[in-house]
Amino acid sequence: MIFTCADCGTKACEQMNYDKMPDASVCISKNIDQQWFKDKYNEEDIEIAHNAAVTEAAGYCHQTRLEETMAFAYRMGYHKLGIAFCTGLSTEAATLAGVLRDNGFEVEAACCKCGAIPKAFVGVAQEEQLHPERDFEIMCNPAGQAEYLSAKGCDLCIILGLCVGHDTLFIRHCKTPVTVLSSKDRVMAHNPMGALYQADSYLRRVHTFIKDTFG
Ligand code: SF4
Repeated sequence: MIFTCADCGTKACEQMNYDKMPDASVCISKNIDQQWFKDKYNEEDIEIAHNAAVTEAAGYCHQTRLEETMAFAYRMGYHKLGIAFCTGLSTEAATLAGVLRDNGFEVEAACCKCGAIPKAFVGVAQEEQLHPERDFEIMCNPAGQAEYLSAKGCDLCIILGLCVGHDTLFIRHCKTPVTVLSSKDRVMAHNPMGALYQADSYLRRVHTFIKDTFG
């Protein structure tokens, strides 16, 4: 097993405690010069990081993610916000649009099924469809959502419940900054963390999921 930050648990980097950090052969903070990291931030990155940190501190444990999203957008001077939502969360998307508008933001939105393109376009056979008995199903179109919202001049795009993989494509194609309000988890009421919290109790099955599912 390769030792990673996920196996460390010292939180020594959080305390800038070089004595407590693991050996330089495994510890990123000890092994890599700070300047290397700093060089990765351009001017806009620094502004985003600054306002993210201020938003975290100002809202710590009393502002919801929704409120923090608006606070971050406000601090950044983002006015036009794009919602990239899953059709299964259409009601939530309408609520989100209303809340954002009530707070003075301009809203654009794109549903995952925008474009109405049949799944055959990406090679999904009829028997692989969610409902194989149907002649066709419409594919999720995350690249289209991203390109549309980018072309509309959104300052910030908010992902609302996109599926695994579809969010991958959305993030890849989006030309504006992106944040996630919610990720899709149909079993855990869109709270994927629930599976982690139960991974060593009621959901121990996740530890052997790939073997059990794919052999
Ligand atoms: S950077 Fe070093 S101290 Fe921080 S979590 Fe990784 S291994 Fe631990």
